[in-house]
Amino acid sequence: MRLYFLGIDGLATSILFAPQNQGRWPNFAHLFAQSQHGICDCEAEYQFTGPSWTSIYTGQPADVHGLKDLWGRPRNGSKAFVNVQEAYVWDILNQHGLSTGVITMPITYPARRVQGWMIAGFPSPKLSVTGPVSVPPDFLVDHSEAIRRTQRIPGIGYAWHDQMSLAEDVEHLKQVELRKAQLVPQWLAASPVDALFVQYSSLDRVGHELNNYARRGQPFDYSHVHTMYDWFDAELLPQLLAIEADYLIVVSDHGWPLWAEVQGGHDQHGTYVLRGPDVPAGMRLDGRNIDIMPTTLDLLGFEPPAVTGHSILLRTSELDLIDEHLEGLGYL
Ligand SMILES: [Zn+2]
Repeated sequence: MRLYFLGIDGLATSILFAPQNQGRWPNFAHLFAQSQHGICDCEAEYQFTGPSWTSIYTGQPADVHGLKDLWGRPRNGSKAFVNVQEAYVWDILNQHGLSTGVITMPITYPARRVQGWMIAGFPSPKLSVTGPVSVPPDFLVDHSEAIRRTQRIPGIGYAWHDQMSLAEDVEHLKQVELRKAQLVPQWLAASPVDALFVQYSSLDRVGHELNNYARRGQPFDYSHVHTMYDWFDAELLPQLLAIEADYLIVVSDHGWPLWAEVQGGHDQHGTYVLRGPDVPAGMRLDGRNIDIMPTTLDLLGFEPPAVTGHSILLRTSELDLIDEHLEGLGYL
């Protein structure tokens, strides 16, 4: 496989790069040591899932692609997945002859036809699939699918949060993520593709679940956010990184503040990682969500299309040119 594009909703540099957290998550640290990585900022006025993921896919800010609603719903003038005009990164890869598997990337409902296959992502009122991929009927696109099946309580959410303790809820969230992680290699074996896109949401969802329980008067205990990062690093991330590809991209749509004393929310500072041949290891360079699509094309050796974002890939060979230049001038 050429490309593995791993979306981790809400993976926050405010948490990952905090001095007090250094050494806490060795698998993330190892990944950063092998890669070019840094902050992936979303737009200040659109620090949320729908617009930011769509900017990641298209290389355009929300004012250009037009999908401004938090959940990509066609309301209040927002576009939706079905009528955004900009080309998506998987469409462009298809044009370059690469087949794509797209698994639960946010705001991709209903699934579109691609060269390959697609399983629509959250929010997804029902399973929506295109192409040759077989999805078990009990597969949950997202943890919240189970929540949504319980009784709605206007103003504060769903009966789920009264029926489940926070500990049970968090455990369910983990199980939904693990189930997806187990299915992905099976889908790839049955229907191989050149580029895989897949997204996991537990690092974002845990914060929102804390908010849901806090709305019911339970204490807001931020430590659950950190312990979810502990679990993700120790249990889930090694499974996710066991999938092999020439190039790896990890990206998040927004961040989460380090210390939310009351009900917390998103911040602007997502994370990205680039790993592969000719990508310098351990290099920190900050970028923006709109830079990810052109960077993806550049990484694979294709000319990025003319979009607002630009490639932030540093090539090892470019850094070598600096050495040659300095050597030529007699500095080295
Ligand atoms: Zn998000």
